[in-house]
Amino acid sequence: MSSECIFCKIVAGQIPCDKVHETDNVLVFKDISPSAPVHYLLIPKRHIPSLADTTQEDEAVLGELQLVAGHLGRTVPELGRNFRIAASTGPDAGQVVLHLHYHLIGGRKLTWPPG
Ligand code: 5GP
Ligand code: ZN
Repeated sequence: MSSECIFCKIVAGQIPCDKVHETDNVLVFKDISPSAPVHYLLIPKRHIPSLADTTQEDEAVLGELQLVAGHLGRTVPELGRNFRIAASTGPDAGQVVLHLHYHLIGGRKLTWPPG
């Protein structure tokens, strides 16, 4: 846990969240400022700053995050197997919270490319 990290505080229960799904290693909760009818954040419970900081040690949790995305895509009715996951990595890509997270968005027609 990183003591200054807002997502670590959510994992620790020190900041409330609207929880969607949880496993031993992964937490999914609703984004506080949604940009689509469905906007979830999928995070490893362990503090990893970004994809640029991952190592071989993170292989299992990175795989699990994508499997969880697939599960949600299949089971959340508003998604109906149509969704996007995105992991902004670094300030130039728009990463604000320095705890690795995948945005999962859907529930509307999505456009490409993102800004
Ligand atoms: P980033 O810009 O780093 O890729 O995404 C961070 C996301 O975290 C943003 O979409 C923002 O709305 C969301 N966020 C920031 N603080 C909180 C919070 O305290 N609770 C929740 N649920 N989402 C948050
Ligand atoms: Zn953290």
